[in-house]
Amino acid sequence: MSEINALDPQQYVIKEEPYYCPVGDEVELFESAYASRMPMMLKGPTGCGKSRFVEYMAHKLGKPLITVACNEDMTASDLVGRFLIDPQGTKWQDGPLTVAARIGAICYLDEVVEARQDTTVVIHPLTDHRRVLPLDKKGELVEAHPDFQLVISYNPGYQSMMKDLKQSTKQRFGGFSFDYPAEKVEAEIVSKEAGIELSVAEKLVQIAQRSRNLKGHGLDEGMSTRLLVYAGQLIAKGVSPNKACRMALITPLTDDLDILDTLMTTVETFF
Ligand code: ADP
Repeated sequence: MSEINALDPQQYVIKEEPYYCPVGDEVELFESAYASRMPMMLKGPTGCGKSRFVEYMAHKLGKPLITVACNEDMTASDLVGRFLIDPQGTKWQDGPLTVAARIGAICYLDEVVEARQDTTVVIHPLTDHRRVLPLDKKGELVEAHPDFQLVISYNPGYQSMMKDLKQSTKQRFGGFSFDYPAEKVEAEIVSKEAGIELSVAEKLVQIAQRSRNLKGHGLDEGMSTRLLVYAGQLIAKGVSPNKACRMALITPLTDDLDILDTLMTTVETFF
């Protein structure tokens, strides 16, 4: 079996331009931030377009993109690398952050607050003037490739005292605040992504807006753009709008029967 070369940048290059509809001047601003390789933080609720934006920017800038979905079990070794034992002995394997630093990729740490703080600190020397990554276990100091940039995302809604980034981490990044796109733009995105008529997408967006008003009043989060795209895709496949909304917009959102009922009634006023 031929081994995949983890350091081949081509495999991380996004071949086709991802569809991204700008909601403001974030594209130009990101380009300026990238020009000085400023580490960037994308804040905003789940499913509002943060990952899509990074994919689009990586493609636009012609840089490889390495994405890591962070979770609370993640250790520094998962990011940086570890020794593996194989029949030939022990062998070092770079983690995704190290690969990105070596090849000059944009490294996107998605939902970084999920990771423990002792994991998050490994990014510190990469995000200041040093731009280095110490591999303590291996005894190597990796100097970041000139094209390397670090991007993190997080959802401020899920923040708590236990789960927050330290100030010493936060103050290494420039930031963008994302939110669900404005009504017209969101309808256009849903229509395009799902392949449904704009008039149907507009109704889906209006349903979502009702649910977003329930945030903090029975719902932790309103319906995301991602869920609207799911509902639209079902409708495009011939599922009735009513069933599509129940399946994609309502059932995943909450277990509270009263809220489920309220949301279903909202759907019925539109479809
Ligand atoms: P996040 O990373 O914020 O959780 P994603 O980037 O995965 O969310 O967005 C979810 C989906 O919403 C995308 O797959 C895409 O279909 C759609 N989407 C959201 N915002 C945009 C946008 N501005 N342009 C194009 N698609 C978008």
